[in-house]
Amino acid sequence: MSGEVLRIGVDIGGTKTRLGLVTPGGEVIAEKTIPTASGVTCAEHVTRISSSTRQLLADSGKELSDVRTIGVGVPGTADPNTGVVEYCPNLGWDREPLADHLESHLDIRPHVLQDSRAAAWAERLFGVEPSVESFLAVTVGTGIGCGIVLNNELLMGAMNTAGELGHSTLYRNGRQCSCGNRGCVEQYVSGTAILRRALEAFPDDFGGRPILTQTVFALAAEGHPPAQRLLEEALDDLAHAVVNAVNILSVEAVILSGGLCVYEELFVSPLRTRVLDLAYEPWRRQHKMDVFASRLGPSAPMIGAAFLDTALHQQRPIASRHHPASLKGHHAAPPRPAR
Ligand SMILES: [Zn+2]
Repeated sequence: MSGEVLRIGVDIGGTKTRLGLVTPGGEVIAEKTIPTASGVTCAEHVTRISSSTRQLLADSGKELSDVRTIGVGVPGTADPNTGVVEYCPNLGWDREPLADHLESHLDIRPHVLQDSRAAAWAERLFGVEPSVESFLAVTVGTGIGCGIVLNNELLMGAMNTAGELGHSTLYRNGRQCSCGNRGCVEQYVSGTAILRRALEAFPDDFGGRPILTQTVFALAAEGHPPAQRLLEEALDDLAHAVVNAVNILSVEAVILSGGLCVYEELFVSPLRTRVLDLAYEPWRRQHKMDVFASRLGPSAPMIGAAFLDTALHQQRPIASRHHPASLKGHHAAPPRPAR
């Protein structure tokens, strides 16, 4: 042991994985980024994460004994009780025992949770004002993620999927989504969706520039009417989805992060205006609700991952969490006939 007790946060993304050494105050004192190789298995990737963690510690003059806890955010559904990644379509991981893999390498049992929930927890601990007790942390990047903090608790839901804003239905019978349903929000407003909408609306009008979401924003900034119209429609779509969530959950803030939030004038500010326009009247009247960009930026999932133990500590005991499934009869044995 060589001083301060530290935490390690790991944020596994679709193309890169960030590892950070985090102080009890939420400060990232060292970090390392490794690629998330296309087609990599969970076991292979965890082996790389383990060796990179050892490297990160060695480079910082620390040892594993200096580490209090490790948390991992994954871009999919994970069960925090078992540490199993249940469903992670971007990476092709299905029911992968990530915590077991990592524990076998580092001899510390890690906490595992969806990245957007980890990010929401980081906002609770180090981002938003303490007076804001209920909020949505919405990430708009290549996809759409959302974590929910209600009355200062991180909301999980019975299936650990609370906050699937990106896969809530925006248009009945709309575009086909990777989740199997149609019309999901993510198919209309994510960075990927905005680029696809642009390619449909003005395929030959990129002015010889790269076919990227950034180019669509650049065109809109230059006054390109089809690009401006497209962004207006996409923002309106997202605003409706966000307002539905706000109305259902009665949150007092929506914190935005992700790649599209660098566009304050073209994205964050008009989205705020539109959400406040659509907000339920009591919210508007009391000026209680607000929409703003995250202060933590892209480090939020990594920082939140490092503190997952504190988020999961508040959850109900495992026995009561598993009870609802048996009520549905999935695991219950059929009653024996009376003799
Ligand atoms: Zn979907």
